[in-house]
Amino acid sequence: MRIIAASQNKHKLVEINAITKDFGMELVSMKDAGLGDLDIEENGSTCEENSLIKAEAVCRLTGEPVIADDTGLCVDALDGAPGVHSARYSGVHGDDAANRATLLKNLEGVPSEKRTAHFICVITMVWPDGKKLVARGICEGSIATEEHGEEGFGYDRLFIPKGYDKTFAQLGTEEKNHIGHRHNALVKLREMLEQQ
Ligand code: IMP
Repeated sequence: MRIIAASQNKHKLVEINAITKDFGMELVSMKDAGLGDLDIEENGSTCEENSLIKAEAVCRLTGEPVIADDTGLCVDALDGAPGVHSARYSGVHGDDAANRATLLKNLEGVPSEKRTAHFICVITMVWPDGKKLVARGICEGSIATEEHGEEGFGYDRLFIPKGYDKTFAQLGTEEKNHIGHRHNALVKLREMLEQQ
């Protein structure tokens, strides 16, 4: 079965493919589905809403099953920000370096023990007949005082998962994929698919 990934992010596709391939699903990028430049407005107020908005939009256009991911970084000292605004925290959508700079600036002077944070990842799968599965994964951690490491994307250079003393970007993609929020959501999705 073909399943379209409603994301342009190659890192996410690799993580998602690692699970869906075990279910005989062939993960197809938006580009390969002919939707390369599609820009979906993510105007929901939660990761659940945005994940569903992306999945349903692509499903309507392709008439095929779709999987979508929406992720937010919630920082306790910032009352849960950037949260659902994580992709456009600096004001420019998708500018990872500017988003990280904004986060560091807003946490200036906040001591290490108060820099706790978590990632939330919601994975939604929808089928053209209206069926849907929603899986949520969380990863607890904290925000470093400066960038460390080069792997990954987004906030990986600043996020130190709980129990570690290195950022996701220092730990590397393979380690991240064993402990991260997307992995945790995908494990739940796997359980749901197995129960079908
Ligand atoms: P979205 O889910 O693609 O809308 O991502 C929201 C924001 O969180 C973007 O700025 C991404 O770069 C960032 N982000 C999403 N997933 C991760 C991750 O696994 N690690 C670090 N940053 C992420």
